[in-house]
Amino acid sequence: MSEGNAVSPVVLGIETSCDETSVGIVRGDQLLANVVSSSMDLHRRFGGVVPEVAARAHLEALPQVMTQALGDANISREDIDAVAVTAGPGLAGALMVGVGAAKGLAQALNRPLYAVNHLVGHVAVDLLRSEGRHLELPTIALLVSGGHTSLLLIRDLVHDVEVLGDTIDDAAGEAFDKVARVLGLPYPGGPEIDRVAATGNPSAYDFPRGLTQPRVQATHRYNFSFSGLKTSVARWWEANGEPDNPQLVADVAASFQESVADVLTKKAIDAALAYGVPRLVLGGGVAANSRVRALAEERCREAGVELSVPPLSLCTDNGAMIAVLGAELIRRGQAPSALSVSAVSTLVSRTAQIEPGTRSTSGPTDGAEAPGADVEHTEQLDEAITGLQPTVRPSTTRARSKKAPLLPAIAVSCGVVGLALAPAFGAGIVPAILAVVFGHSAKHRPLARQGTVVTGLVLGYLGIALSAVMGTLAATPVIRALLVSVGFLLPD
Ligand code: ADP
Ligand code: MG
Repeated sequence: MSEGNAVSPVVLGIETSCDETSVGIVRGDQLLANVVSSSMDLHRRFGGVVPEVAARAHLEALPQVMTQALGDANISREDIDAVAVTAGPGLAGALMVGVGAAKGLAQALNRPLYAVNHLVGHVAVDLLRSEGRHLELPTIALLVSGGHTSLLLIRDLVHDVEVLGDTIDDAAGEAFDKVARVLGLPYPGGPEIDRVAATGNPSAYDFPRGLTQPRVQATHRYNFSFSGLKTSVARWWEANGEPDNPQLVADVAASFQESVADVLTKKAIDAALAYGVPRLVLGGGVAANSRVRALAEERCREAGVELSVPPLSLCTDNGAMIAVLGAELIRRGQAPSALSVSAVSTLVSRTAQIEPGTRSTSGPTDGAEAPGADVEHTEQLDEAITGLQPTVRPSTTRARSKKAPLLPAIAVSCGVVGLALAPAFGAGIVPAILAVVFGHSAKHRPLARQGTVVTGLVLGYLGIALSAVMGTLAATPVIRALLVSVGFLLPD
C-alpha cells in the first residue's frame, strides 16, 4: 500500500452477521458504495431469522452484492487496498460465509485482511464524514437490533471498547418480532408495532420494565431483559385479547413499545451520567423506532447528553460501517489479521479488531514471486481454511450468576424438611417458612431456575399448612380430648 493509500485506503467491507448480506466500499472516510441485500422475506414464514437459511442466502447473494458495490463505487477489484469483514458477534454459519469470502478475496488480491467487531462497526459509522458524520469520543453506544441489545462505553474505537451491559435473554428487536406475532402482526414486527402504536395509548397497560428494580441494580444495572415483558404481554393477550379490535391491538402495542423505549433510554442515560460521558450513539434496527428516538431525544436533552442517530440505511447492518472501521484500523497503523482468524459467534471484545496478526502487507503485487512463494501460499490457504472453524467463547454477560442457582435449591431443601417434620406436632413450620422466604427471593433472580423455585414454594406452603393443622390439633385441649375419645390419640 502506498503512503497516500495508507491515509485514505480503499477498503471493501463485508457484513454477514445476521440476515443482511452487505458490501460497503470507502476511500478513507468517504463512502463510495453500500449495497445491502436482506433475506428477511425467506424468514417471514418462520417469524424470525433462521440461522441456516440466512447462511445459505449469504452464499447466494454475496457475489452479486459484491459486483454491484464495485460497480456503484466505479472501481475494479485491483483498486481495493484492503478487505475488512465482520468476524463476530453474530450467527456462526452466517459469519463464516463472510469471513470465508473475505479471506478468499484478500488472498486472491494479496491484500491485507481486517477481521472486525460488528458492534464497534455500528459506532464507526459516525466516522463517515462524507455522510456529514463526525465521531467524538468517549461515547456511550446503545446498539439494539434483532440479535443484539448492548450498551457500550467507547473511550477509544480501536483499543478501548467496554461492554457495560447486554441482554440476558431476548434482544429488543426479537421481543418486538415475537410480540407482533402474538398480536397477529406480520414479520418483521418492529416496524408493524411502531405503525399500529401510533394510534394507541402507551399508558393503557403497565407492562413490566425488566431489570429496573432496585434490588437487581448491583448485578444488572446496565443489563437488559425482555423475555419477561414478552411473556407478560402474551399472557395478557391470551386472557383478554381481541384480534378484531384494532384499538386494543394499538393500545397493547403502544404500551409494550413504551416499556422497551423506557428501559433502553433510561439505562443509556444512566450510563452516560454515571461515567460522565456527554454523548450517546444509537445503532441497530430498533433505533428506527419512533418512540425510542423521541424518548432518547427528550431524555438526552434533559440530561445534557448529545445524541447521534445515523440515517436508517447506516443504522441497520451494513458493509459501509465495516469498511470504514477497516480504514480506521489502517490509519491507526494496526497490523492486519492473520488468515487463520476465526469467526467468533459470541464475541465479547474490548477491541475493534479480532486477533491482529503479523502478516506482511507489502507482499509481491506485480506478479513476481519470491522463492518458496508457492509453499508459503499453500500454507496460507491451509491456514485460512482451518481458521474458518467458528470459535465459541463464553459470553461474560450471559454467564449464570453463582448465587442464583443456590437459592432455589435451598428453598426446595427447606420445603422437604418442613413437610417431613410437619406431622410431628407442627415442628416443620420454621423450615417451611424459610422455604417460602427463599423461594420468593429466588423468584426475582433472572437467572434462577424457575421450575425449582416453584417446587420450593409449593413444598413450603404445603409444609406451613400441614404444620399449622397438626400443631393446632396437638395444642388444642378440646380437640385433644375429642381425638382421645375417638381413639386417634392416646390419653396423657
Ligand atoms: P439484525 O439483522 O441483527 O436482526 P437489524 O439491524 O437488521 O438487526 O434490525 C432488525 C430488527 O430491528 C428486527 O427485529 C426489527 O423488528 C427491528 N426493527 C426494525 N424497525 C423497527 C422499528 N421501527 N421499531 C422497532 N423495531 C424495529
Ligand atoms: Mg437484519
